[in-house]
Amino acid sequence: MQQAVKEGRLATDEAARERFEDGHQQLPAERRRAVHRAIDAKTAGWVTCRPNAEDHTDLTLDEFRDNMAIRYAYEPPKMPTHCDGCGAVYSLDHALNCGVGGLVIRWHNEVVDVLCDLFAKAWGESAVRKEVVIVEPEEGEKGVRTDMVVRGVWERQKDVSFDLCVTNADAPSYRKQSTASILKNKAKAKKAHHRRMCEDKFIHFTPLCVTVHGVWGREANGFFSRLVEKLRTKAAWAEKSYGQSVL
Ligand SMILES: [Zn+2]
Repeated sequence: MQQAVKEGRLATDEAARERFEDGHQQLPAERRRAVHRAIDAKTAGWVTCRPNAEDHTDLTLDEFRDNMAIRYAYEPPKMPTHCDGCGAVYSLDHALNCGVGGLVIRWHNEVVDVLCDLFAKAWGESAVRKEVVIVEPEEGEKGVRTDMVVRGVWERQKDVSFDLCVTNADAPSYRKQSTASILKNKAKAKKAHHRRMCEDKFIHFTPLCVTVHGVWGREANGFFSRLVEKLRTKAAWAEKSYGQSVL
């Protein structure tokens, strides 16, 4: 009996795999890339996350639909015809790249808010500072700001600077690069800009690079292991379900 159940399950899995392969081959290239990215990077955490207003995981119907569309490279329905920032004809690509319309910066700031909330739960509110000036601007020099500074992450009484980069891996200029390589280059650019300035002030620096699809870079994933470990030690966290999905 058990053998029959096992064989039946394997046959069902195999049939599902064949249906997936058939459908997948018929997709246009950009959608195939999106499907592979979603599978490889396991970005489905937010899809199965229990909706909870306190943790801001209670998406509206439109938010859920739009995020699903972005996940699989579809144009969301109900899009405005023109960008309210620059007036250009609107598209998903434009929405994710236009620096004038405000969506890009809003997305960035919302992720920073969620991260600060998690950092405060892990290391305490007094250990977390947002929008910190590392180097004051001087005549002819722009200075360096960072999104978050957290104290005591790796070493006691030592600060770590975190600067976030949210990027659209489907932007036309990135279409020939893998998602991993895009994130690696973004992290490299962040390090080139921040690391020396931070080290001069005895501050660690960790770039947090993520795509709009929720794929995080290597440094961010390394740090999240530390964050999850820290959160697990907090008794108050034991009854929470929030930590399952950051994006
Ligand atoms: Zn625009």
